Amino acid sequence: MASILLRLKLDSGSTDKPRIVILLGAPGSGKGTQAPLLSNFLKMPHISTGDLFRENIRNMSPVGKQAREFMDQGLLVPDEVVLAMLFSRLGEADCKGGAILDGFPRTLAQAEALDREIAATHELSVFYLAIDFDLLIERISGRLSCKQCGRSFHKKTSPPMKEGHCDSCGGLLFQREDDTKEMLSKRLAVYSEQTKPLIDYYRKRRGILKEIQADGSKEEILQAMILSLCCGKV
Ligand code: AMP
Repeated sequence: MASILLRLKLDSGSTDKPRIVILLGAPGSGKGTQAPLLSNFLKMPHISTGDLFRENIRNMSPVGKQAREFMDQGLLVPDEVVLAMLFSRLGEADCKGGAILDGFPRTLAQAEALDREIAATHELSVFYLAIDFDLLIERISGRLSCKQCGRSFHKKTSPPMKEGHCDSCGGLLFQREDDTKEMLSKRLAVYSEQTKPLIDYYRKRRGILKEIQADGSKEEILQAMILSLCCGKV
């Protein structure tokens, strides 16, 4: 029922344009946890560029080979590779009504390219999941990901019902290679340098960016995003 009300509210906005929702935040801020919940609520696909790359790596595709050498070092994959992959995914039929982007954009060039691509056709909402850096370390070092569907769990705070297996698809859970402490500090440095400036980029555009305190429970964070989409409240 709440979902229907929200859809009505979103659909009765100033335009009939589909919406792109961006989840912005450091590794471990909860983007990968919130995106499927929001996707389920809004009935929009969840697109994670990290998951798309991992899928390409598993399939040993040319994109996977290109991405792997950067991902293994905790570095960002070059913009042109990311953009081609993302725009191709956004062009698929299930994205006609909008999409939730997790892990994209991560550089100013990516944000500008997305603007050029969707400015005339879509509404944009950006959620910045703000969180303390110490909590990130705790979250990431306990994080487990599903090999099959990419869903995230946490050893302590959100364990799977059956140990070692995903609640959604039964796939095997594993710790991502780039979730080790050493790789994490590299990824956080890359985030601070290349992705954090996007907060100001979107903040300058009135009404697009909403800051959400991401240290609460996953239900509280989801609720804050839904309220914001629905009534502009955070
Ligand atoms: P994630 O699953 O979002 O933490 O992404 C894992 C890794 O995939 C990142 O550390 C990057 O190497 C790569 N990656 C994912 N999304 C992007 C992006 N938008 N731009 C560049 N590299 C990305």
